[in-house]
Amino acid sequence: MGDIFAAHFAALGAGFIVSSLMGIISYRLKALSGSGVAGMVIIGTLVLGFGGLAAAVPLIIFFITSSFLSHLKSPLKAEALMIGDKGERRDLAQVAANGGIGAICIAVLAYTGNFLWFFCYLASICEAAADTWATEIGTLADRKPRSIITLRIIDPGMSGGVTILGTAAAFGGAFLIGFSAIPILLHNLNIENLFFKIIIAALAGFIGSIIDSILGGSIQARYRCPVCRKITERKSHCRVKTSLAGGIGFINNDIVNLLGTLAAAVVAFPLLNLPNFVETIRLFFCC
Ligand SMILES: [Zn+2]
Repeated sequence: MGDIFAAHFAALGAGFIVSSLMGIISYRLKALSGSGVAGMVIIGTLVLGFGGLAAAVPLIIFFITSSFLSHLKSPLKAEALMIGDKGERRDLAQVAANGGIGAICIAVLAYTGNFLWFFCYLASICEAAADTWATEIGTLADRKPRSIITLRIIDPGMSGGVTILGTAAAFGGAFLIGFSAIPILLHNLNIENLFFKIIIAALAGFIGSIIDSILGGSIQARYRCPVCRKITERKSHCRVKTSLAGGIGFINNDIVNLLGTLAAAVVAFPLLNLPNFVETIRLFFCC
């Protein structure tokens, strides 16, 4: 393990400097809280240090587009912010929920040298982008979302809510992030079936975001305010403690987001092996 850190020493240093600078700018722009900056520095250092530019570019594009989209305001988005249990600044748990699985995949890539882990990383970042884009763009239209579980109209900002615009945005986000890795991968590495693997990563990211919505609408904790009777994701509302109205108590939005990125990587892995699998079957039956 020590050897790996030694081999990537300069890159890890560069990753630390770049992610620290981005963290400071994000804090100034009110995109991250203090703990969010710490999370960004840890994840950014690992991803840039072990994954190089090919891994850094999708992560940076995800971060910049998400921060930009969260600055676009609408009445429904303001309503959505009232329901969620967090403010506008992203904290450590939110940053880890979006980038933690990706950072682990990149560390495994550095350890094993197996490039499949790069595409699992990419799938997890595609999922984080799909989920963020769906929320930020979906709440710009003045149509209320429907629950992916019950199909009933629900308040904007409630987890598990989907709209057509949001779903299209999720698809666009996943594919933009996926394809953003192509120029550097093409330039530096000779990867077999590159386009196939990028499309698998983006598709897995999109599928992960649907799984994220299903989990958000089912097992994620929902609370009812005893004063105004509204359903919320906050533990207190109208200055009083809310009571659990559905889902599992300890499963909050961060855990659902973490599971979404994990689902994307897990969906991507067998699909990435598909060409080998097909080839094995062909060899088995042909000669
Ligand atoms: Zn209330």
